[in-house]
Amino acid sequence: MKSITILGSTGSIGVNTLDVITHHLDQFSVFALTAQKNIQILLQQCLKFHPKHVVVVDELAAKKFRELVREHGLKCEVHSGAAALSQVAADSEVDYVMAAIVGGAGLLPTLAAAKAGKRVLLANKEALVMTGQLFMDAIKQSGAELLPIDSEHNAIFQSLPEAPLGKSLTEMGVKRLILTASGGPFRNTPRDQLANITPEQAIAHPNWKMGPKISVDSATMMNKGLEVIEAHWLFSAPWEQIDVILHPQSTVHSLVEYLDGSVMAELGVPDMRIPIAYGLSYPKRINPRLEPLDLIKVGRLDFAAMDFEQFPCMRLSYEALKAKGTAAVILNAANEVAVAAFLEKKLSFMNISHVIEQTLDNIEITSAHELENVLETEQKARKNSQDFINKHCS
Ligand code: NAD
Ligand code: MG
Repeated sequence: MKSITILGSTGSIGVNTLDVITHHLDQFSVFALTAQKNIQILLQQCLKFHPKHVVVVDELAAKKFRELVREHGLKCEVHSGAAALSQVAADSEVDYVMAAIVGGAGLLPTLAAAKAGKRVLLANKEALVMTGQLFMDAIKQSGAELLPIDSEHNAIFQSLPEAPLGKSLTEMGVKRLILTASGGPFRNTPRDQLANITPEQAIAHPNWKMGPKISVDSATMMNKGLEVIEAHWLFSAPWEQIDVILHPQSTVHSLVEYLDGSVMAELGVPDMRIPIAYGLSYPKRINPRLEPLDLIKVGRLDFAAMDFEQFPCMRLSYEALKAKGTAAVILNAANEVAVAAFLEKKLSFMNISHVIEQTLDNIEITSAHELENVLETEQKARKNSQDFINKHCS
């Protein structure tokens, strides 16, 4: 029986994780669930999975949740505040941690799980983008296991030889990693029509059902940019050996090209419960109870070159990766602020990349070896982006 903490249990990945666990309650027990403030979903999850601990980060929502716990006669301990997230991630009773908080808010608890030697199921790509080497070192030093949940990285992990993390691409005979991108909802939208895109249009992804932030990231292609940086750290891959190609059907989840010309890929229906089940059961397999992939129904698989003109966030991501240091921290923070402003209708879709580029130009890139400096840089970049939006874009 494995004991699991789900960071961000009320989100898209969190809900999907509990759905997989529902069918395998003989193998997994829930130690802790966490949410920012969505206490209604959290209550339903507690009634079903009976976690020992619950974290509601927002103080007011936590207060209300304690009343609900009393009313329903639940036995869980309710904590509030962000520090409690790291405690339930690092608790000695925990075996697995699903890192599914969105954005930089997930960094410290995800890092705490890595330092505590847990099996880390990494959905929260922003945590790795921000801390890169620090995060990979923490995994190595504590003997933690890292399993990528992002579908592209999960596909690459499955297409590489056994236990690939920590080995070089050369050692494994790999020529390049090829990430697939669906292209999002605006793949074929002319650039001059992107100015009036609404949040509702941007979060309507053609293939995947996801939270609002990653859906906007998929529309700007920043999601793929963050994934290039994620792949760099996970698989020790230089940027020159990471390519992105458009694949609108999202059936091929990513590929690995070997030196001899062989290309390995993982295919499946576009459903996050596949990589989640893989991470939970590795190296064995469990059944997430999904419709099987019907290739006849899919009919055809299309591929096209990535258009860096159409999607400036792709270019900015490669530039940040090449610049090294805290460049990716600045890129990520500026993107989070810009996406939040776009979702609140305070920034146009086209200006998201503009805010990121401005912030990258304005904030000095320094070393990312110290966590303190990473966190300080994040705050600086957030403030700079917000000031820029307030002054020029609203
Ligand atoms: P979501 O918005 O649906 O859920 C986010 C979760 O994080 C919620 O439980 C929310 O309560 C919690 N949260 C938000 N802000 C918080 C804060 N400040 N402090 C503590 N908790 C907070 O997001 P999602 O789509 O499930 O994505 C989660 C992560 O997984 C993201 O990093 C995303 O990039 C990654 N990911 C998601 C998918 C997907 O299909 N949804 C696929 C690949 C990777
Ligand atoms: Mg992905």
